[in-house]
Amino acid sequence: MSRHLALLIVLLTLLVFMLPAAISAQEATPVPGASQNNLTIHVVQRGETLFRIALRYGTTVAELAALNGITDPGSIFVGQRLLVPGSAASAPAAPQTHVVQPGETLRSIAELYGTNVEALAALNNIIDVNTIYVGQVLNISAPAAPTPFTQNTVTDQQPASNAPVLIHIVQPGETLFRIATRYGIAVNELASANGISDPSLIYAGQQLVIPGFEPPQLALDLPAPVTGLDVLPLVLIEGEAARIRVTTSESVTMGGTFLSRTLNVISEQNNRQHTMLIGVPLGTTSGVYTLSLTLFKADGIQVPLNINLQILAGGYSTENINLLAGRDNLLEPSVEQAELDIITRVMSSFSPQRYFDGPLGLPAAAAITSPFGVIRSYNGGEASRRHTGTDFAGAPGTSVLAPAPGIVVLADTLNVRGLATVIDHGWGVFTGYWHQAEQYVQVGETVASGQIIGTIGATGRVTGAHLHWELWVSGVPVDPMQWVRLSFP
Ligand SMILES: [Zn+2]
Repeated sequence: MSRHLALLIVLLTLLVFMLPAAISAQEATPVPGASQNNLTIHVVQRGETLFRIALRYGTTVAELAALNGITDPGSIFVGQRLLVPGSAASAPAAPQTHVVQPGETLRSIAELYGTNVEALAALNNIIDVNTIYVGQVLNISAPAAPTPFTQNTVTDQQPASNAPVLIHIVQPGETLFRIATRYGIAVNELASANGISDPSLIYAGQQLVIPGFEPPQLALDLPAPVTGLDVLPLVLIEGEAARIRVTTSESVTMGGTFLSRTLNVISEQNNRQHTMLIGVPLGTTSGVYTLSLTLFKADGIQVPLNINLQILAGGYSTENINLLAGRDNLLEPSVEQAELDIITRVMSSFSPQRYFDGPLGLPAAAAITSPFGVIRSYNGGEASRRHTGTDFAGAPGTSVLAPAPGIVVLADTLNVRGLATVIDHGWGVFTGYWHQAEQYVQVGETVASGQIIGTIGATGRVTGAHLHWELWVSGVPVDPMQWVRLSFP
């Protein structure tokens, strides 16, 4: 057999195998690699159940569970890829979707896709066009099947738990690279969508926003003089912080509210760039909330700017703490409240100067024993208290480090928190260090990043030596580890 003939056979063989793949790829859903033989891959969306997916593809829960080796049908997770029986051609075509970006309106999105507001609203069961929110996934084209892809009615200030935002919950052992590969996107794209500056700093249980499978198309509709609007991260999480940034073509002053709190607005670049750091309090019900801003122009004209933001539940777990004998009197509400009042007053103030830059460092070279947000009960009591910091285990005497530059605003011995230090990092960002054995700084002192400010101890309400690290932003305690992963300035 000549080499040319052999080559021809190879080419023909390739063609035979590639041709059906090319045809089915055209019929398949936009999900990368969706079609393989007589199976379709379905990526689980938020709010979907195995039952609903089975219904959509005309199969059964039992068949889906068997095909995917699922033992507990309730344990599927958002972003999970499921094999679904049947060829892509027989399955309903997935609709084209658009993820709402900050500054977009239903009207501008309708224009972008050559449709109209009424059709878009009807397709997405939207009653009030002003209720669309950042991160919302809108269906642009109707699915081929008579049943809608999602039933998603959005009501302002109400939970919208079925909103199909594509969130991936990081599993143990996963890397950003693996997750990006899984969704067919670049690591950089995934990192920037989630504001991650160091891709090695992701952790199990972290919620990542998966950017749209197709590159996002912008349909901005911003009122003059607003030229830009940035929300980081795109979807807010209960117990985490967010940064809102508005750019304007002229100097303005700005004020606003979110979650019934007055916002601290930091105006820079000759009052053309305005930054707001907000904290979503633990216990905030998931749903869509309006951030209301007002721009005050030099000519006296006021321009309102409302942004609907989605808040998702933090998914925090529950744990029981057994206190050492003789220290239960520290659970006395009056003792606790008086001390919390001091902390709240100190950590809720605002310095317009920013001392921090980039992500924070870690406050100790020690393992995390209890994460932020855990719902706690003490000595088997009612599980009603939230853990408002991150605990680091550490032998007594282990150094406590300032994670960023700042000014010491509290250095005291407290009943519950023991030997406590608070650092003001500016822009309404404060960090607290409880239960220390030793304290090396005084109120008013400027500290540098990485400076040793004390040592780990077991003072106050503790079960053993550890550092409790707390971070407040705009008067709200949030997960300090988010500030280690993200750069907020
Ligand atoms: Zn703690």
